[in-house]
Amino acid sequence: APAALRELLLSKITDVPDYPQPGVMFKDITPLLADPAAFGALTDAFAELCDRHRVDKVVGLEARGFILAAPAAIRAGVGFIPVRKAGKLPGTTLCQAYELEYGTAEIEIHADALAPGDRVLVIDDVLATGGTADASLQLIRRAGAEVAAVAVLLELGFLAGRQRLEPGLKGAPLEAL
Ligand code: AMP
Repeated sequence: APAALRELLLSKITDVPDYPQPGVMFKDITPLLADPAAFGALTDAFAELCDRHRVDKVVGLEARGFILAAPAAIRAGVGFIPVRKAGKLPGTTLCQAYELEYGTAEIEIHADALAPGDRVLVIDDVLATGGTADASLQLIRRAGAEVAAVAVLLELGFLAGRQRLEPGLKGAPLEAL
């Protein structure tokens, strides 16, 4: 992102030490959401990525990804599709399990949410280990669609999520605003 936007966004993200557990520095985006100028500028930046990558659908990752992806999808004039934690979607779903530090998690998408050949932008707030985003890429491909790009507000570089995501991106860009 341009330096001015980057500074604005960073100034609205708060570090919360030891949340939700000791040793984790939680990146709290609620001050950004409460500021319409910053949230609007972020939404414009995500919507611009939709245009640049010629996407047909925006996929938001539960839960904070929903908040960022939905207004960007509207602004770009494309549909919003939720990827949810297992057991929350009412229709027929595709389910993808992935490794966490301890144990596994599962996420789902409605099986008919994407059309074959759809170009998809995946949006989330924070890229940490990359496990969630990587699983979402597998869901999108299993649904027959194409991953155009992944976009996050913030990338935690020291967790090497970019490296974990690299094989699954298959050349699609990872944009960290
Ligand atoms: P990961 O699968 O490890 O990349 O984690 C991704 C999900 O966990 C994202 O949807 C983030 O919202 C959340 N997350 C992980 N680490 C943090 C953090 N330090 N601060 C805020 N959110 C985080």
